[in-house]
Amino acid sequence: MLGPVVGVLALQGDVIEHVRMLSAAGARAVAVRHAEQLDDLDGVLLPGGESTTIGKLLERFGLLDPLRVRLSSGLPAMGTCAGAILMGSHALLADGTPSEQPLLGVMDTVVRRNAFGRQVASFEGLLDIVGIPAPPLRAAFIRAPWFERIGDGVQVLATVDTPAGAKVVVARQGGLLAAAFHPELTGDPRLHALFVEIIRARQT
Ligand code: GLN
Repeated sequence: MLGPVVGVLALQGDVIEHVRMLSAAGARAVAVRHAEQLDDLDGVLLPGGESTTIGKLLERFGLLDPLRVRLSSGLPAMGTCAGAILMGSHALLADGTPSEQPLLGVMDTVVRRNAFGRQVASFEGLLDIVGIPAPPLRAAFIRAPWFERIGDGVQVLATVDTPAGAKVVVARQGGLLAAAFHPELTGDPRLHALFVEIIRARQT
């Protein structure tokens, strides 16, 4: 059986690394830069980077509205770090004030950018994720956000303990999977595999 076709948004970020991970997870991965390509996809992956920049590039490339429409009408998507911010309905700056930036707004989440603060702007940790059997996944957090609030239809898949309490770092709403970290950098394709599984389950 041929794997699902998953587009990796290729405006900024780790495109090759995500393509490799998706291939290891059994998908056929393609780089996406144009709205016309969206019609041929079974799923789409939004890499990390800088969410304001990616949002502006999405607008400039005429992708923001078409992508929003496709995701709202059921195209599965996985957003990592900046990609998770873009999928949310609201973004906050690190100090908790609203961030005015273009968003896809397809997940019922409020995402706080650079949430872990300067001391631990970047760190690696072992994460237990619902749907991924042991051992825990090594996760690279790079100026990462967390989910400040999630709606009723959003499922928590993983949290990280912080001095301010447990914070949600992986969330799922139907076919939409959002992770605050960079799963493409630590050599473990199991989050990509979970996404491929989600796509397959929605195809049958
Ligand atoms: N700090 C970035 C932002 O807020 C996200 C970081 C990342 O994607 N590694 O957009």
